[in-house]
Amino acid sequence: MNGTCKLCQKHTKLNDSHIIPKFIHNWQKKTSFTGNIRSSENIDKVNQGGFKDYLFCNECEQHFSKLETNFSKEFFYPFIDENILNLYDINLSKFVISLAWRVLIKYKKDKLFDKFEDSTIKKINRYEIIWREYLLSDTNEIPKDINHNIYILYENLYPHPSFNRYLRTSEATFMSDSEGGSYFYIKLPYFTFLAFVENYNYKYWGNSEIQNYGYIDLKTQYMHTSMEDIIKESCETVKNSVKQYSETQYIKSQNRFNKANFYNTHAFEMAVEDFKNYGDESLPKRD
Ligand SMILES: [Zn+2]
Repeated sequence: MNGTCKLCQKHTKLNDSHIIPKFIHNWQKKTSFTGNIRSSENIDKVNQGGFKDYLFCNECEQHFSKLETNFSKEFFYPFIDENILNLYDINLSKFVISLAWRVLIKYKKDKLFDKFEDSTIKKINRYEIIWREYLLSDTNEIPKDINHNIYILYENLYPHPSFNRYLRTSEATFMSDSEGGSYFYIKLPYFTFLAFVENYNYKYWGNSEIQNYGYIDLKTQYMHTSMEDIIKESCETVKNSVKQYSETQYIKSQNRFNKANFYNTHAFEMAVEDFKNYGDESLPKRD
């Protein structure tokens, strides 16, 4: 399909691009009970308009892909597989902005900002440009208008009967905090990112800020109450999702469990963690 690439703005052939990186979906699939992604692992609001869209040319896709590869090799797999947290550099910032910017573009295309106030829409449009210019530049410094944050989640961090299964989910949405800050919220398995467009408040969010380079100390991460609210709500979504299975889907998935090597999967490990903490309360209830 031909069109104008949203990043370089050339009129050319466009790819059917992933909004949430493909390696995330691949990991979720590979480590799931059945080898398929369950709907509860993609509470992705972008989902409603589809995971993919014709937005970028091949060259710009490659640009995103480099940032994704860097993140997956330097952070995602070392942390999940070996509990290692590496030092980060400017590529983390660019990766986070590339995610937030893609969600912004997709939301805009699907007209999902229409319900927001004009002042917020104006700021979103401003950041569409700031982030785009940043992504196109070779700079090693984060522009002063950019405020983005990282939270690393890990097993048993938050008390909820579904928390360890929630860890596996991915989600992207636009939201506000209790102090009038608005931001894109992107959750990948274990990693959560925020990218602000309005009223960033250092006092509340400063300790999770992404810098030009640095190290994330899990012990000093402070979780804003707005984050706790989101986590709680999403854990509930995970908890309730099994009820949505029809009888046929349920039986079908049971059959898959029997065949698959599911005792060794990450999904099973997380379900066991939740069960250890909450017992029967952690188990899916079917009506
Ligand atoms: Zn392009």
